[in-house]
Formats: sequence, C-alpha cells, structure tokens
Amino acid sequence: MDEILAAARSVDWRALGDRALCDACLGRLFGRLGHGLTNEERGRAVREIAVDSEGPCWVCGGLTGRYDDLAALAARKLEPWEFETFRIGSKIDFEMAAREESLWAELALTSPEALKAEVNREVGKRVSDLVHKEAALDHPDVVAVLDTGFDHVDLQVNPLYLRGRYRKLSRGIPQTRWPCRRCRGKGCDRCGGTGKMYPTSVEEVVASEVMRESGGTAHAMHGMGREDVDARMLGRGRPFIVEIKEPRKRRIDLEAAVGRINASGIVEVDQLVPATGAGVVTLKEDRAAKTYRVLLRMAPPVDEAKLKATLPVLVGEPIAQRTPGRVVHRRADTTRARRLLSAEVVGIDGDRAEIRVTAEAGTYIKEWVHGDGGRTRPSLAERLGAACEVLELDVLDVHDGG
Ligand SMILES: [Zn+2]
Ligand SMILES: [Zn+2]
Repeated sequence: MDEILAAARSVDWRALGDRALCDACLGRLFGRLGHGLTNEERGRAVREIAVDSEGPCWVCGGLTGRYDDLAALAARKLEPWEFETFRIGSKIDFEMAAREESLWAELALTSPEALKAEVNREVGKRVSDLVHKEAALDHPDVVAVLDTGFDHVDLQVNPLYLRGRYRKLSRGIPQTRWPCRRCRGKGCDRCGGTGKMYPTSVEEVVASEVMRESGGTAHAMHGMGREDVDARMLGRGRPFIVEIKEPRKRRIDLEAAVGRINASGIVEVDQLVPATGAGVVTLKEDRAAKTYRVLLRMAPPVDEAKLKATLPVLVGEPIAQRTPGRVVHRRADTTRARRLLSAEVVGIDGDRAEIRVTAEAGTYIKEWVHGDGGRTRPSLAERLGAACEVLELDVLDVHDGG
C-alpha cells in the first residue's frame, strides 16, 4: 500500500479538475501497484490524497457498482450449459475507454489498469462464486462476453474434443460426412434425398453416439490422414479427434459411448478421451508412416520368384508421384517424392498376389501399384512388366509412435 500512496502523492491532482471518480476508477489509476488488493480498496486509500469532487463517476458512470448484477446476468445465461471452466470477456463503451485513457495521459500515470481488465476479473470472481466453477484464461469450456452498454451477454460455447483411434471394418465408408456432389447436401434424386454421397461415415458413427448424450449443434472429424473410401482401416486403428460443437453436456459416459460405437459393426474405437483444439493441429501434421495390405491382380501373371525379387529393389528408392489422375481435378498437379520403408510378399495365387507395404506419410499406394498411366514412377507394374490392378486395400497400421 505504501507504494500506491507514494505514487498518488507524486500526481498533480489539479489536472483532475472537477471530475468525480468512484473508488474503483480512482484505485485503478494505480491498479498495477500493490498485490492482493481490489481497485476499490486502492481507491479508498488514495482518496484523501487526491482532490476529488462529488457526483457520478466521470469514467464509468456507475458501471463498477453493477458487477453483482452483471455477474447474475452471466450466471443465468450459463445455466443451461454444463461446463467446468469459463472466462468472462467484455465490451466496454468506446467513449468510456477513451475517457480513462485521457486521464492516464493528463495525470501522467505509469501503472494504471484498464477498466476492461477489471470488469473481466471482478465479474469473473462473482460468477465463479455463483456457479461454483473455475475461471480459466486458457481453453475455457465457455466464454461469456458482457456488453456493458446494453446489459447483454453473448455466450461462446467451445467445442468438446475427444480423441481415440478408429478401425473401419467395412469398405465403402468415407472418413468424414461427404455431401452429395450434385445437390451439395440439400437432397436430390441422385442421393435419394439424403444429401450425402454415402449413407454413413466414420465421423457420423462416432459423433452421433457422442451427441446422443452431449447434445451439440454440429460435429467434425479430424483424422491423422485418411484412407480411401474403399479401404478398410484395421490394426490399432487411425488416431482421430472428434469435435462436437456447442455441447450441452461435457461430462458424458465415454465408455458407454465407445460401447455403442463398437456395436455398430462398421466402426470401432479403442477409447474416447478428452482432447483440445491444439491437439487437432498436431494431428494434422501427419508424418506417420502407414502399413498397407494390398491384394492385386497381375496381367500377365508374374511368378512368385520374380515378385519376391522385385519388391526389395523398390524399397528405399525415391518414388516420384504426380498428383493422381483421380484427384487432380480438385488438387494442384504437383509431384511429390516418397519412399517405401518395407515391402514383402504375403502370398501369391495364380494372377493374384497379396503384399504388405510400409510407406512414408502421403504416399499414394494404389498409384504406386498400378503406375497411374506413368504419373507415378517407378511403380510395381512398371518393374514387373505387367498390368497391376488393386483389388483390395487395407491400412494395417499408422505408425504415429502412440
Ligand atoms: Zn467509476
Ligand atoms: Zn443430392
């Protein structure tokens, strides 16, 4: 407190003129001095030093006396939502902020605090007492933004993020909901009114079971890469984060949700555990090698000895892959360099062979097998001197280190 009193004595208070200040606005002029005090307490201590007039506060017009009301307003708005952490934000009238800043300059102050910071903190403390939840600056579940000019509260309900690894046991299912190309989701003859290219997706199976309990307005699925629609995802599964927008509930029975997902028979998850939006960014930096099972047909048939001799030669050799013909209409036509990390023959039966291949993240495996009309070089087909057709493709592992 001595520090604050000394600072107050060094101010030339004549510059204040006949403008009145409430305790909080007076104390806030020294808001960054002294610990464990409210600005109101600072203001009461400073008042006998400062020359001050009677009347409504020139800076806030009485706003600092309304924190209890604002907190009650925010608490009411938060009531329907389940959350553990929250943050209070505020919109302060522009002229109010300008008045306080002009005062800082006129009184040559060095350690003032802004009204906005005080509103957020003081209302936050009161809301915390009312709702028995913690205020948190980082990753709060909900943010209540007070518009102090209109006594209005806007809620921003942050998504619920859950991570796990999924296995896709059936072919013909995309990872994410795929809107109908023709109607773009409205529903038409082509999609039978569903608005979708495929009846379901990994995203829909997982998210619908979570939303059944949590509620929410929408969902999104973030995968560490994605497999083709016609490829299964087996083994330990692929890491993902499912995002539920504006969930009503956050404390849900995750084990039960996992059980229901796994009962779908088409998608399985190992677990669902809390994640963050930052986790999505990490997931998207996919650098994980993948292991595939490929069942292919060779024309003319190639004998086992030749196949077994060819595969090891291809391992480690740089593969130049132009954007595949099947996706070049929606992606830039570039060339990427990738490598195989391992390749082995699992079995061969006439013109069919099953191989197991591990490749760097981002390798187009089907194209590496058939060559994509020369867009991928070298390819297995090129080296075997036979046309190769991929009959089945499965992802057996995502080597993410997890
Ligand atoms: Zn005031
Ligand atoms: Zn359609």
